[in-house]
Amino acid sequence: MLLIGIDDTDSRLGRCTTHLAYRIVDFLLSNGYELGEYPFLARLNPNIPWKTRGNGAVCISVKVDMGSRDGERIIGAIKEMVASNSMIGYGANPGVVFLETHRYEPVIRFARDALWRVVSPKGALQVADAYREHGDGIEYIAMGNGQGIVGALASIGMAVAGLEDYTFEVIAYRMDGMCGQPRCIDEASVIAMDKATHPYTFNNYDYKHARVLIAPHGPDPVLLGVRGDDPGTLLDALSMLKVREPMDGYMLFRSNQGTNAHLANMLDASNLKAYTSGYVRGTVASEPMAMKGGHTFFALECDGMGDGDGRVLCAVYEPTGLSPLAQMLGKGDLLEVGGGVRKGTSKHPKVLNVEYIRVIDVARRVRYMNPICVCGKRLKSEGRGKGYGCKHCGYRVRDAERVEVEVGRGVEPGLYIPDMKAHRHLTKPLHRYGMRPGRMRMDLGWFRRHTGVGTDHG
Ligand code: ATP
Repeated sequence: MLLIGIDDTDSRLGRCTTHLAYRIVDFLLSNGYELGEYPFLARLNPNIPWKTRGNGAVCISVKVDMGSRDGERIIGAIKEMVASNSMIGYGANPGVVFLETHRYEPVIRFARDALWRVVSPKGALQVADAYREHGDGIEYIAMGNGQGIVGALASIGMAVAGLEDYTFEVIAYRMDGMCGQPRCIDEASVIAMDKATHPYTFNNYDYKHARVLIAPHGPDPVLLGVRGDDPGTLLDALSMLKVREPMDGYMLFRSNQGTNAHLANMLDASNLKAYTSGYVRGTVASEPMAMKGGHTFFALECDGMGDGDGRVLCAVYEPTGLSPLAQMLGKGDLLEVGGGVRKGTSKHPKVLNVEYIRVIDVARRVRYMNPICVCGKRLKSEGRGKGYGCKHCGYRVRDAERVEVEVGRGVEPGLYIPDMKAHRHLTKPLHRYGMRPGRMRMDLGWFRRHTGVGTDHG
């Protein structure tokens, strides 16, 4: 099996690495080659600053020997396609890795790191060189500033990692001349599809803000993408959509999207590193601060809670919809908070940008009140040391004391995640918790090219 990792072929001006992968798969299938599994769309650390959009990279596995004539032909053709279809010079720094091995451990370890922290192209080259020295088949190209090699190698590691959780996405592509034009997707058909396929598709439509979520807005060739847990349901979902433009075709990907995989590591609260992703555990150190614009900040005291003692400043931004909850938190509440570390500057301290809050325990708040009378009403104090009396039944008591009454907090233990419109590619939707991933066997019809027809069946 030849594993091909590709990354960083696009820029904000256009193109998309998944689209190049779609073209490469078209080339492979139309030349009679067989894929080992669905192409894998890996989402890597979403908190690195030099990503174009969603920090995605793709791995394609094809059943061929790297050293064979076919292997050479494939590698040559893909190198050529990457060089001529990338936005080199406009912000793209393409990386491609071809790997044939039975030793997946080093590449999996590399991918696990790239998911939550910053790794260097040098580190990727070291992994690649170690494979070569061991006699495995490996070839790579790193164009531009060489950064793309990181995602290219990591996508391979993610694809072969035997992930416990994964999802799928069917991505439909536009005809060449359509890029840059508005996408005309019938909103009612998105809602109908969402309702018909729930819970096996997700993040199709934001009912709270009445927004279609399946289509991007940029000049890239992606027409739309539907995400979910079952490949067959995704193909059905695609056929339910009414889109008023012909599409070039579509491809199904397996992915780590919607799995929260980037937040699996506990961060060292005593030494938070900029651009890392993960979680910390601690108690709220002081009352949260609400800022103008609806953002809320609170400090978490993490001493004795895990990896390193220290205080972590957490930022909850208004668009996440988590600010009202954050404002109800109070000193002593025990939380687990997941997110990405924003670099500190001379103006702003280093903060954890919150991606979820798990309220583990709500601190008790009490008030002291006069005791209750035998008749059920509250007693009145008769003055210092003089006891209490009841205005209603006349009952009097001398040696009673004020009693502790628990104050309702309005916060319940549980998991709180951002509103759908603020979800990142890796955010795990609430309904996916406890869900088992779908089967990986490839469905008929997982790839179509040159359909030339719209999906408007209306
Ligand atoms: P799109 O979502 O449209 O594919 P993108 O957001 O994936 O775009 P890229 O253009 O691929 O952005 O840029 C991301 C760059 O960051 C790539 O060069 C990739 O190799 C690199 N990269 C990915 N993860 C890490 C990481 N953890 N540490 C360092 N570099 C990384």
